[in-house]
Amino acid sequence: MGSESHRFHILFFPFMASGHMILMIDMAKLFAIRGCKSTLIATLHEEPTLKSIAKTKDSGLDIGVVTVTLHPKDLELPIEKLAPDGLISDIFFPWTTEIAAKCGIPRLVFHRTSASSIAGTECLDYVREETEFTKFYNEVKESEKRSFGVVMNSFYELEPAYVDHYRTFLGRRSWTKHTGNRASIDQHECIKWLDSKQPNSVIYICFGSMANFNARQLHEIAVALEASGQRFIWVVKKDTNVEEGKEESLPDGYESRIRNKGLIIRGWAPQVLILDHEAIGGFVKHCGWNSTLEAVTAGMPMVTWPVTAEQFHNKLFVIQVLKVGVDIGVKQWGRLFGDSVKSERVEEAVKRVPMGEEAEEMRRRAKALVEMARGAVEEGGSSWSDLESLLQELGQHRLAHSKKI
Ligand code: UDP
Repeated sequence: MGSESHRFHILFFPFMASGHMILMIDMAKLFAIRGCKSTLIATLHEEPTLKSIAKTKDSGLDIGVVTVTLHPKDLELPIEKLAPDGLISDIFFPWTTEIAAKCGIPRLVFHRTSASSIAGTECLDYVREETEFTKFYNEVKESEKRSFGVVMNSFYELEPAYVDHYRTFLGRRSWTKHTGNRASIDQHECIKWLDSKQPNSVIYICFGSMANFNARQLHEIAVALEASGQRFIWVVKKDTNVEEGKEESLPDGYESRIRNKGLIIRGWAPQVLILDHEAIGGFVKHCGWNSTLEAVTAGMPMVTWPVTAEQFHNKLFVIQVLKVGVDIGVKQWGRLFGDSVKSERVEEAVKRVPMGEEAEEMRRRAKALVEMARGAVEEGGSSWSDLESLLQELGQHRLAHSKKI
C-alpha cells in the first residue's frame, strides 16, 4: 500500500495485557496483509509475551517488534528512527498523542470496546466526584480529541446507529476494524470432547481473562450446572482465595459425578475454537467486548453476566438491541469478582439458551449477524473499505506533511 516508491509503515503500541495484545497483533496482521509494513512496540518486560502470542498467530507475514520502556521520551526514539506513517496506540496511552505530534506523525487511538459503549460513555455523566481514575479518564478523552482519529474494534453493520453517532454527532474521525474469528491454537482435548456431542447441546461458560469469582459464587455455578442437566464446558480461573491444593468451591465429588456431562478447564481455553464448534449451543459470559464479538461471529445465543465497567453497556446492547441473550440479572459492578447470583437463577438461565422456541429465535437472529460479520471483512465490505479509507487519509497526511518540510 502507498505509492510505488513508498510502502506504508505503521507502528502498533498495545497495552500490556494479553487481551489488548491479541487484538493489536491481529490489527498489525491486517495492515500487513494489505501490503503495509507493521511494527509492534513492546516494553522489554512484555516483549516475550508479545512475541509468543504473535508466534501462535504466525502467518508468514513480516511483522517487526521494537522495545521501549514506558518513558515517553523512549518512544520518540523508534518513532524518529523508523519514521512511520502512523502510530496506532492503546486508549490507555493518552501521552502518545503528544509524542506522535512532536514527531509529525498521526496517532490513532485504538478502542478495544464497542461503539455503543464508547458513544454511551460519552453521553452519560455518571462520574460525580474526582478520583485518580476520573482524572486519567479525562486525560484519555482529551488526547482522543486531539488525535488523528479512532480505530474501533467492531464492524459497522453490527452497531450502525452508534458508529454514526460517534462520527457525525460527536464529530470524531473513526474507522471500524474487525478481523473475523480465526483459530489460533491447534486441536485441543476439549475440541475432541465436543466432536462426540450433538449440535447445540453444550453450554460454554467463560468470564474472560480477568474476572475471578470467589469460592461461594463458583459453588453456586457448579450446583446450577449439575442441576440443569445440561452438558457444559466451564472455564474456571484459579480462585486466589482458595488455599493451594484445595477445591473448596466445588461440591464434594463434583468432578467425578459430572465426568460425562461436563468439562472443566482450569486456566486458558481455546475460546474461539470452542465457540465455532457446532456442539456449542450457548455461551454464559461476562460481556467483555471481545467475547461478545466472538459470540456474534459464531452465531451464539448468550447468557449475559456482566462483572464490571463497560460490560454493563455491552449487556444492554446484547439484550435490548441485538436481542440474542438471556440476562442473568446482576445490577452492580462487582470489581473483578462479580455480583453474587444464586444457583437457581443460573440454572434457569442456562436451560433457556440451547433448545426451545426462544433459543431458536435468538439463534436465528445471531446467524443473521454472522452473515453481516463475514460481509464486513470481504473485499468491498465495510471493514475492508474503512481500512482502505484510513490508508488513503494517512497517505494524504504524509503528502501534506512532506510538502511542509
Ligand atoms: N480468552 C480465551 N480463553 C480464555 C479466556 C479468554 O481465549 O480462557 C480470550 C477470549 O476469546 C477473548 C479475550 O480472551 O478474545 C477476552 O477478552 P474480553 O474482551 O471478552 O474480556 P476481558 O478478558 O478483557 O475481560
